[in-house]
Amino acid sequence: MIRSMMRRVTGGRWPEIRAGEQLSCPEVGRLLQQFLDGELDRDSEISSLADHLEECKRCGLEADTYRKIKQALASRRAEVPPESVERLRQFGERLADS
Ligand SMILES: [Zn+2]
Repeated sequence: MIRSMMRRVTGGRWPEIRAGEQLSCPEVGRLLQQFLDGELDRDSEISSLADHLEECKRCGLEADTYRKIKQALASRRAEVPPESVERLRQFGERLADS
């Protein structure tokens, strides 16, 4: 609760996602986009991202899409078919805008 107030005060941007930190849905969308661009390689961020998708119902992730993200996250690389990357990217954009 305090953390979310702090977030508002600091303009919603933390310099780096720390391990165990609760992500908001838009942050997850942003991280997912970075991941698809091959720019997300910190283990703490990747596991925070996976944890959030596992628990968050608000993200509204379809089971099939989630499986693909999880596979890609587990291998630390976005090795998914192009059409899946496209769906994941749209998903990330939708979240980032929410
Ligand atoms: Zn979420």
